[in-house]
Amino acid sequence: MTARILDGRALAAALRADVAARAASLAYRPKLAVVLVGDNPASAVYVSAKDRAAREARLDAQTIRLPAETTQAALTDVVGALNADPHVDGILVQLPLPPHVESRAVLEAIDPAKDVDGFHPINAGRLADGQDVLTPCTPRAVMKLLAAAGAALSGARAVVIGRSAIVGRPVAGLLTAAHATVTLAHSRTLDLAHECRRAGIVVAATGRPEMVRGDWVAPGAVVIDVGINRVAGGRLVGDVAYDECLGHAGAITPVPGGVGPMTIACLLENTLLAAERRR
Ligand code: NAD
Repeated sequence: MTARILDGRALAAALRADVAARAASLAYRPKLAVVLVGDNPASAVYVSAKDRAAREARLDAQTIRLPAETTQAALTDVVGALNADPHVDGILVQLPLPPHVESRAVLEAIDPAKDVDGFHPINAGRLADGQDVLTPCTPRAVMKLLAAAGAALSGARAVVIGRSAIVGRPVAGLLTAAHATVTLAHSRTLDLAHECRRAGIVVAATGRPEMVRGDWVAPGAVVIDVGINRVAGGRLVGDVAYDECLGHAGAITPVPGGVGPMTIACLLENTLLAAERRR
């Protein structure tokens, strides 16, 4: 068996075009505000990519760059002003924040109706409750890739590896809402290979390069690889041993070109949804 490769770039292009068309039909331009604190080079690259993608999808975009020494109070004030601005539909505070800032408190200051990253505890709680909310972009991307794979979720056995608040847990919540039987595995799971082998859906989000081996994957399983790891020589790899898994999986996402591009497209979609719901 050779797995079908799920082309995240092509799917993302289609979603971005859809967002652009829906945005063009509105009487206003939905607006995304991104806050970047400090000069972390990776964050600067992500923020520029988000800003550019938003503009290409006919959204308004504003990036607010603040110095690394910005105090928590000053940052919370910036978020408060964006909450109060009627033209701003989505607010994203780029993580990580400098160590002197308590990230949780800043994320909790964002109006849940403008929380396009879906990290506010109100949105996380509503998601856990099975409500239709602004869901975090990467988990949303995972669900769209599963849909593109044609994976039947209802009744399926799914294993999610990694229990972070921004990826693993919300993915498990979305899969549960879609009626899958979900195992949320993590670094202390006793026999991860066994958990994977009995799953029809495997979502890997650990940050451990190529840890999911080919012989962990049941024949025909759908494998979604969230990981982005730079290894020796500068090569980017996922959390899944891609070449090994190709011979076992029914469908698989590549890294790069799988979950990553879909994540940004889902941020644009979340901004549009936030605008439609709020205005
Ligand atoms: P995290 O470090 O917050 O969480 C990692 C999780 O993996 C933890 O729950 C931990 O228990 C689990 N884990 C670690 N080692 C394990 C092991 N040996 N066996 C089983 N579980 C193990 O990471 P995160 O923020 O959830 O990100 C995970 C990966 O996804 C990273 O590579 C990150 O770069 C990537 N990521 C990609 C996107 C994207 O847009 N594609 C977005 C967010 C994160």
